[in-house]
Amino acid sequence: MIEKQRTSVVIIGAGPSGSVAAAILKQHDVDCIVLERSTFPRFSIGESLLPACMESLKKAKLFDAVNKAGYQFKNGAAFRRNGKYTHFDFTQKYTEGEGTTFQVQRGPFDKLLADEAQKQGVEIRYQHTVTAVDVNLEKPILSVIDEQQQPYQIEADFILDASGYGRVLPRLLDLESPSGLPPRKAMFTHVTDNITENLATELNYDRNKITIYVHPKHADVWYWLIPFSNGRCSVGVVATPEFFDSYPQDEITALKQLTQEEPHLGQLFRDADFCHASGTIGGYSANVKHLAANNYAMLGNAGEFLDPVFSSGVTIAMKSAELATDVLVRQLKGEAVDWQQDYAKPLMVGVNTFRAYVEGWYDGRFQNVVFFENANPDIKKKISSILAGYAWDTNNPYVASPQKRLSTLAEICSIK
Ligand SMILES: Cc1cc2nc3c(=O)[nH]c(=O)nc-3n(C[C@H](O)[C@H](O)[C@H](O)COP(=O)(O)OP(=O)(O)OC[C@H]3O[C@@H](n4cnc5c(N)ncnc54)[C@H](O)[C@@H]3O)c2cc1C
Repeated sequence: MIEKQRTSVVIIGAGPSGSVAAAILKQHDVDCIVLERSTFPRFSIGESLLPACMESLKKAKLFDAVNKAGYQFKNGAAFRRNGKYTHFDFTQKYTEGEGTTFQVQRGPFDKLLADEAQKQGVEIRYQHTVTAVDVNLEKPILSVIDEQQQPYQIEADFILDASGYGRVLPRLLDLESPSGLPPRKAMFTHVTDNITENLATELNYDRNKITIYVHPKHADVWYWLIPFSNGRCSVGVVATPEFFDSYPQDEITALKQLTQEEPHLGQLFRDADFCHASGTIGGYSANVKHLAANNYAMLGNAGEFLDPVFSSGVTIAMKSAELATDVLVRQLKGEAVDWQQDYAKPLMVGVNTFRAYVEGWYDGRFQNVVFFENANPDIKKKISSILAGYAWDTNNPYVASPQKRLSTLAEICSIK
């Protein structure tokens, strides 16, 4: 006989969306259990945060711990293409809110969030893997395997799926839907960068910003350079899967070659030590048929994931946790809620904003805007707001009608 337990809310996954959701629910005295299949710390990709997610961390009462943890300060994004340099200072933005944030190694960062949620009273069960769900009952039932490989079940009022790339509910409930974005692949590693102050000054390199490099010969291929506070950087290259076919199979050898192809990055890495683990991840853009029903909702990457270029993933994950817990608390109090209107629609405002600029990045329109030399300061602040993660502020015209505004702006910027 399989043991059956009960709680009000089960959260699948203890990544950023799971921890933020759990901490907010705890503030409302909602009983919840987080089921996490790994042990923490564990590696995860997605190391550059946006200032807007600091606002979500404040709501979850997790901000102070993050602020004190000694992570690499971040105040903007720098872009380089064929010798051209431009940057966005996130403190110079249209929308109110935090203008700075951090770059973090996700293993310790996700552990910090989970530990802080636990300190607030959240129950997290590590090495508990969700293997099946039945949502056709009024109260859904999850099948779980615990750390001793023992199966058990939990009945809940509601399931929040924060399983990220695990995509538990989309897989189990046949909710997967193709992403509108073409498949891309990322190859990445951490390096001990050995970038001295002299070298940084010589090359006009600002450690307080993420740097996005466009490949000198392929406008749709780009690199991220994300510095950490421990003398290391995360470096990655994003391209179509076929692009990598002409590079060595060994990731470190390929990454050394690729970083040397970009002259500025090559110089910056002249003393870098490629001595850490590497990886590739592909086919990460994903979507779902719907984001929520009356007894479950998908958060963060378990819902839709677009593309890494503007570091929007963790911000969207935390925002989804904020929006979903707001609706869920009202539902648990007996209020009538409409998950489509109250959760999916507001969440998609920000996701669709990012989508417009991601598409514009790869088709070249947004690159024209980013590298435009005579940018209007008022427009730059509005774009800076979006790059800082304030993609839900519909008072910003570049959020309210992103496609139209971007196309018009790109045309103006391409007139020499
Ligand atoms: C190449 C690349 C670069 C990126 N760079 C950035 C960046 O710079 N900045 C940024 O903000 N975002 C970035 N992202 C996106 C970022 O990785 C994600 O958006 C973010 O981690 C999503 O958080 P989450 O809480 O939804 O899921 P996750 O962080 O993936 O957490 C999900 C958790 O669920 C657990 N889980 C999975 N299956 C189960 C199961 N069956 N049972 C129990 N637990 C389970 C997992 O172990 C995991 O701990 C990048 C993505 C890619 C692909």
